[in-house]
Amino acid sequence: MVGIQSKITSGWLYKISHFPLDAGAEQGARRQDVMISILMLTGSVAITGVSIWDLMAGAGPLWSNLVTLAVGVLAFIIYVVVLKSGKTNVLLTLAVMIFLHFFWLLTGDVEWSGMLWCLVMMPLFFQLLGYRVGAKLVCGITLASAIVLLWPEPQLFVSSYSLDMRYRFLLAYLVLAWISFIVEYIRIQTRRRLQEMQSRLDLQARTDELTGLANRRGFKEYLGVSEQRCEQSKGLFAVIIGDLDNFKDINDAHGHEVGDIVLQEIGSILKVLVRTEDLVVRWGGEEFLILLEGTDLKGAETLAEKIRQKIASTSVAASDNPIYVTMSLGVDAQHSEANLFATLGSADKAMYEAKRKGRNCVVSAGRADMSESQPGSEYASPVQS
Ligand code: GH3
Ligand code: MG
Ligand code: MG
Repeated sequence: MVGIQSKITSGWLYKISHFPLDAGAEQGARRQDVMISILMLTGSVAITGVSIWDLMAGAGPLWSNLVTLAVGVLAFIIYVVVLKSGKTNVLLTLAVMIFLHFFWLLTGDVEWSGMLWCLVMMPLFFQLLGYRVGAKLVCGITLASAIVLLWPEPQLFVSSYSLDMRYRFLLAYLVLAWISFIVEYIRIQTRRRLQEMQSRLDLQARTDELTGLANRRGFKEYLGVSEQRCEQSKGLFAVIIGDLDNFKDINDAHGHEVGDIVLQEIGSILKVLVRTEDLVVRWGGEEFLILLEGTDLKGAETLAEKIRQKIASTSVAASDNPIYVTMSLGVDAQHSEANLFATLGSADKAMYEAKRKGRNCVVSAGRADMSESQPGSEYASPVQS
């Protein structure tokens, strides 16, 4: 059972149907490659099979069957190689298809079945080239086919279709082209809409609805992206954790909605004060985290103090009376070999230390470590209060 399951999940068809919707351009191209290769492989097997059948049954002209057999076998070999190498040559595929189209149209294959194969192949032009370019090519092929089919004497044909049959073929070809165009158009538009919806949902999942800042999930995703940048900035990261002081009292005094407006205002202040490459996260209810790249402890302390002063001096006009809030902040910087989560933990501890010291101040964990090594000194000292 497990064996069958793993065989199914490693199959080409499974992989195509389970390609992620948000697959990048490269993955999208790979999906297209695999799909075209499979279509061409099955197509070449069908052509080879029918040619062998006709040869054995003696149906149709011998040379026509031999040419189709050769094309079928050649296409099969090419697409086995292509499928293994993982690259499809669209131009080669188009060349094979256009050759077969006009070969079948001119020779008629057995009876008038050549026309049927032309119809079968046509949706592939849209699949290969998309609805825009596909439509242009199919228009060109239809026009060329009309010229070939309606050419006055001497006829270009080896096989002789009735005039009625030629008109009917052209009409069927146009109707099928229209259907294929609509199907491909709807497919592409639906896919585009799904991709847009997915990126919108992704953004929503990473963003805090109230403040528009990143949420914890956004922070985790950002960490993945910033790993490379961390290497560029020689592994230097600083973290500031800020928690609003006595926020419960603001909610109690003015109501939750006013509290929400205050949180939004604080979010805006933080966004304005940091650089574009820094990340501000709504870490919890009234707790914020700022991740600063390529910043040392000194720089982070300076910014934290700037934030503290700005918040303390800003009045939020969310109710009849202006509301003033203060923030307690903890700071730490990460050294190249340190674990970021350990740094977050010590910045958090420093923030609690700032609360203990009376709130509305900045405590630096880095300085705390230094002072800890000196007996008799305080665990942490506010940079400024
Ligand atoms: P401290 O100075 O010790 O941090 O005191 P505090 O009152 O800020 O801390 P506490 O943890 O006791 O209360 C935090 C409050 O933040 C309680 C909760 O109602 C409020 N809060 C959390 N999230 C939101 C929110 O989204 N909107 C509003 N309006 N209030 C929130
Ligand atoms: Mg608080
Ligand atoms: Mg809190």
